[in-house]
Amino acid sequence: MKRRNLIKSLSILPFTGALAARASSIHKTITPALTAAPKRDLFKELGVTPVINASVTMTFLSGSLMLPEVLEAINSTSHDFANMYELQDKVGGKIAEMLHVEAAMVTSGAACAMVLGTAACITGTDAEKIKMLPNHPGPRPEVIMQKTHRYLFDQAVSTTGAKIIEVEDADEMAKAINSNTVMALFFNAADKSSITHEDFLKVAKAKNIPTFLDAAADVPPVENLFKFQKMGFDLVTFSGGKMMRGPQSAGLLFGRKDLITAARLNHSPHEAPIGRPMKVNKEEMFGMYAALKSYLDRDHKKEWADWLLRAKTIGTKLEALPTVKTETVIDPGPANNFPSLFVRWDPNKIRTKPKDVLVALKNGTPSIVANDKGDALIVGVVLLREDQIAVVGNRVKEILQQALTA
Ligand SMILES: *Cc1c(COP(=O)(O)O)cnc(C)c1O
Repeated sequence: MKRRNLIKSLSILPFTGALAARASSIHKTITPALTAAPKRDLFKELGVTPVINASVTMTFLSGSLMLPEVLEAINSTSHDFANMYELQDKVGGKIAEMLHVEAAMVTSGAACAMVLGTAACITGTDAEKIKMLPNHPGPRPEVIMQKTHRYLFDQAVSTTGAKIIEVEDADEMAKAINSNTVMALFFNAADKSSITHEDFLKVAKAKNIPTFLDAAADVPPVENLFKFQKMGFDLVTFSGGKMMRGPQSAGLLFGRKDLITAARLNHSPHEAPIGRPMKVNKEEMFGMYAALKSYLDRDHKKEWADWLLRAKTIGTKLEALPTVKTETVIDPGPANNFPSLFVRWDPNKIRTKPKDVLVALKNGTPSIVANDKGDALIVGVVLLREDQIAVVGNRVKEILQQALTA
């Protein structure tokens, strides 16, 4: 290509500053890359530190990385408008079919699902009640929970104006149910349950009280996406942005049709109900659907084997150091039920503590977030990109090596 032609072809490209700068050095370096627009790095542009997540999915750390098929769903649907009622109908209908439930909807995360599920149990389809929430007239609606199930996220329930009533066994639960009771909430990943899933359902059903199960972080295993509706829970939620790798700001609420209908009346695109500030955009709805489909279609055995191999790869690398012992530990769940690598060493030989290694990992380049427990450094493997497995292994090794006594 003659120089004049090249300059002409450049002039039809979007003329960004960076390109202009490159074009000015055109006499010296003419490379094929020159004709492509320079890749914009927004992390760099804004000075945001990219982080490698060698831990578990955490909201503060942006949840998980969306899969290519999710990004594809987002990008490919961003060029046309859609009626949001119709979109939620169709996406929800398809998700319900996939999960063998009457109805489903995409929410802005599991916490939103908890607000909407509770609101649905309070208001039903009553437009007046929907309008008043969270200032429900008369006595406060009551939601039953086991005392051992109380957790940070139950604030999503009280956001609706409902009061949480704590119970400790099935008898107490039966006695606590009265005309103000609207729902019974089960926190699936609680450390302790004084009432089993079965007894909880039995008591609630006998008194005709809707049951809601929060299983936000409880895949894998994939079977959990089907288990609790089969058991008899009326509403179930999962986060979209954890191990399902959908948009971080999306989640699933599914179960009984009348309750999903009521939940939707409490949500955007309606103008003003309690869920209006928890809007889900069009692309996230398509993205959540794509993420669920991809998750259900995945070879979960193969994925699990890959996680074990990752742990082994990093473990073998670290065990080359004196006294370092590694162990692949599988979190029994229900939340975060997957393998991680536990790393231990003799602190007399390698003079550092897991806590100090965490700081060094975080402050290094690239910044890596890992975990610790007692005398062990915990290296998470399930959220690493393929190319990050070696990076994390090398970096941990380097830090331990620096603390090695002669
Ligand atoms: C993560 C989580 C939530 C909140 O889910 P989001 O999708 O982030 O809104 C609620 N409950 C439990 C048990 C969780 O782990």
